[in-house]
Amino acid sequence: MTRLVWFRNDLRCADNPALWHACSQPSEPVIAVVYDCPQQWQKHGLGPRRIAFMRNAMLALQQELQALNIPLLIIPAGTFAGSLNSLQRLIVQLDIRSVSFNIEYEVNERHRDIEFSRWCRRQQVEVHKFHDQCVIPPGEVLTQQGQPFKVFTPFKRAWFNRSEAFYQAPLPRPQARSPQPELQQLAAALVQPAPLTAEPDPLWPADEEHAHQCLQNFAAEQMSRYQTQRDFPALDATSRLSPYLAIGLLSPRQCLHTALLLNDGLQTGGKPGIDSWINELVWREFYRHLLVAFPDLCKHKAFRPETEAVPWREHAEDFAAWCEGRTGYPIIDAAQRQLREQGWMHNRLRMISAMFLTKHLLIDWRKGEAFFNYWLMDADLASNNGGWQWSASTGADGAPYFRIFNPTSQSQKFDPQGEFIGRYVPELLPITAKNRHEPDSFQRRQCHYPPVIVEHKFARQRALNAFKNSLNLSPVMADSGESSNE
Ligand SMILES: Cc1cc2nc3c(=O)[nH]c(=O)nc-3n(C[C@H](O)[C@H](O)[C@H](O)COP(=O)(O)OP(=O)(O)OC[C@H]3O[C@@H](n4cnc5c(N)ncnc54)[C@H](O)[C@@H]3O)c2cc1C
Repeated sequence: MTRLVWFRNDLRCADNPALWHACSQPSEPVIAVVYDCPQQWQKHGLGPRRIAFMRNAMLALQQELQALNIPLLIIPAGTFAGSLNSLQRLIVQLDIRSVSFNIEYEVNERHRDIEFSRWCRRQQVEVHKFHDQCVIPPGEVLTQQGQPFKVFTPFKRAWFNRSEAFYQAPLPRPQARSPQPELQQLAAALVQPAPLTAEPDPLWPADEEHAHQCLQNFAAEQMSRYQTQRDFPALDATSRLSPYLAIGLLSPRQCLHTALLLNDGLQTGGKPGIDSWINELVWREFYRHLLVAFPDLCKHKAFRPETEAVPWREHAEDFAAWCEGRTGYPIIDAAQRQLREQGWMHNRLRMISAMFLTKHLLIDWRKGEAFFNYWLMDADLASNNGGWQWSASTGADGAPYFRIFNPTSQSQKFDPQGEFIGRYVPELLPITAKNRHEPDSFQRRQCHYPPVIVEHKFARQRALNAFKNSLNLSPVMADSGESSNE
């Protein structure tokens, strides 16, 4: 019986439950498939650099699997519908009797998989599905009343309690199989895919080995200092693993496992830096669990429906200034320029920038979410939506609406030497670090740097009024407590 592994957002060989399962019978031939769906990805708002990143990862996976004597067919499909048609044809032509894949949680992906599973049932093809995107599968961390958590801290407590039952050491990569030349030839003849090409991205090499190396380097050099350094963008003290997690070149279990090895096996109560990093991995899980429990999030609806009444401003010029990093607030402009240059933005800056768009400019968080989604190499619906709704105070356990970061004081606190600003807004380098956070009008003219597009005090009050009036709230809303996301 020939087994088929369907790769998606899990472009790795190690700790891949679907691949591991397919390879469990040494005598049975295994073939793998992955679909190149550029139209679908564009429809989902991903940008060209992120699409190229996935394609490069597919090509690297093909090489990795080749070494295990498993042919990987990279098939151009355009859309999910196209991929289903192609996969069904392939299954019939190759007489596949068993398909395994790792589950994706977004709505379109789930519909695709339901349709596929139904078809397989009719054809009597076995389907084996696995969870690989979270350490604890969504739906397994619930309140005592059996409901999904809406607040992070109790979720985290319950997650720690449950994790013993779920956590297992990562799976190794499967052993190489005996060569399967006939299968390879047959598959190639049937599919004849146009060879995939993608420009390699020097900043983000897209292969499993590189992702592992980054994890190991971060563990050896920075993880123990994470708690004290993570908020300072100039230090580059976070792991930058998010793009690798987003397309599954790494699994969260591999990350947790590496951290546990350094933390005497403790998820919490160990070394503060490592505890704090594990905490961030749990934030990632929280947002994924929310996405599954509240599928409307995939449709970009506000988690708190009452916030749909906030009168967001339509203002193309302000939005363009924010997108292009010319708001006149150096820390915001540096952040936005980092995003466009690197395809990545530091977490502290994501919060400051998202809050600026939604509070200072009072522009709908969905516009910012879409913009980030287009530019980020780690674009990920659950975390992006979670981060935006947190910043806009529309989400589960979001920042209270009246907590509005002052971009200048955030800049002074988290980029005290103005070093990060200098890197991305080099026109301000002639100004002393002290003044770089808020140049005066003379310095702005000298440096050809624009005036602020909105004054902080005015913007803050405008946002407070807008939220208060539309939500019918008293000025101070119940605070859910200091969030470590902040
Ligand atoms: C407005 C906004 C948008 C965001 N969009 C995304 C996105 O599209 N994709 C994405 O992966 N993350 C997103 N985040 C979360 C976070 O900013 C990034 O995960 C983090 O900056 C990635 O850098 P790192 O790998 O160095 O993280 P580290 O600090 O090294 O953390 C390790 C891992 O934990 C996870 N993580 C860390 N912080 C968070 C968080 N606050 N929420 C969820 N997971 C977290 C990530 O997978 C990260 O790789 C967003 C946050 C905000 C505020």
